Amino acid sequence: MVGDVPVGGGAPITVQSMTITKTADVEGTLQQIYALTAAGADIVRCTCNEPEAAEGLARIVPRSPVPIVADIHHQYLRALEALEAGVHCLRLNPGNIRKPEHIKAVAAEAKDRGVPIRIGVNGGSLDPALYEKYGGRVTPEAMVESALREIEYFDQVDFDLIKISVKASNVPLMIEAYRQLSEVTDHPLHLGVTEAGPPPQGILKATAGIATLLAEGIGDTIRYSLTSDPVDEARMGRALLESFGLRERKNVDLIACPSCGRAEVDVYKIAQDAQEAFADREIPLQVAVMGCVVNGPGEARDADIGIAAGNKRGHLFIRGTNVAVVPEDEMVPTLVEWAEYIKENGIDAALDRATATRDEARRAAEEDRQRNLNELGDDANDSEQVVELLKKSRS
Ligand code: SF4
Repeated sequence: MVGDVPVGGGAPITVQSMTITKTADVEGTLQQIYALTAAGADIVRCTCNEPEAAEGLARIVPRSPVPIVADIHHQYLRALEALEAGVHCLRLNPGNIRKPEHIKAVAAEAKDRGVPIRIGVNGGSLDPALYEKYGGRVTPEAMVESALREIEYFDQVDFDLIKISVKASNVPLMIEAYRQLSEVTDHPLHLGVTEAGPPPQGILKATAGIATLLAEGIGDTIRYSLTSDPVDEARMGRALLESFGLRERKNVDLIACPSCGRAEVDVYKIAQDAQEAFADREIPLQVAVMGCVVNGPGEARDADIGIAAGNKRGHLFIRGTNVAVVPEDEMVPTLVEWAEYIKENGIDAALDRATATRDEARRAAEEDRQRNLNELGDDANDSEQVVELLKKSRS
């Protein structure tokens, strides 16, 4: 348990992120913790790098909506202070706190308080002795050995409230380290690609590492380490778990067609507008934005709700059933309004609501579908067919 959040042992996989404020800035840090929580973080880490940070934690912890982890690097005294401040978990980097008596003092204190510790091995700050032992290279074996050595110190004081991470910025290295670690320990694992960098490449790297391991059944809690607003980290973590079906959907899953020669609207813009309109609404539905009425409603028939463009108007559909026709500039507001209605009342009620408009909506969709087919043919991307249509229109 990290505070009231279970980690490991079959519990839902959790999302973590870290504040980038000075922890001594209590109000600023709390503001960020609230923003991270709203974006999907279950647990938030704050640095405890100076005495003022520990004092900040003492004020932050009682007001935080989620459990707080104190990040400790070089000074074990900060770990003891963070425990005194009431944090729900510590993160220790074995590469940076190396004196066994210091590690054991922290573990003994954490044990008395029932507070868990994450052993946070980092490929970039490995114990120099291990680095040497493995030929001057960071290897998966060296990272796993670093974690196991730390566990040994904890064992000596009979402390086992442990979770472990073996992060690296190199994705294959990180994946292999976690694979090896999962073979030798049952402790919960915290996954991450450290220093993944700015989006979009950072998101891609973090996803490649974390998703590969999750798909293998490895991992209990995750963090995206991005050079970006930490809110993005929480959002990405949450989105990854939702896309894997590992966490219940909290926000809209927006699907959109890639657009093609048949599109009757700027699909990118409508999708972007929809993404922004749904961003802060907690609507756990799959919503589709499709560029044409010829293929859109059929291809997105599994979506809870969607809209397809046709002849300067939008065709709204619910689970593949056409329910309304609206002017093109009302496509996004209409989607949002009906999605809110479904959230409150359910799909069946929404279909009932459309009883009066359903037949007309179906007729209008068929009309625009035929019009599109007549104008663009049955393969809008077939150049020969398009040339024929052009010739026809000139004659
Ligand atoms: S056929 Fe229609 S729905 Fe499919 S990609 Fe093209 S515009 Fe989008």
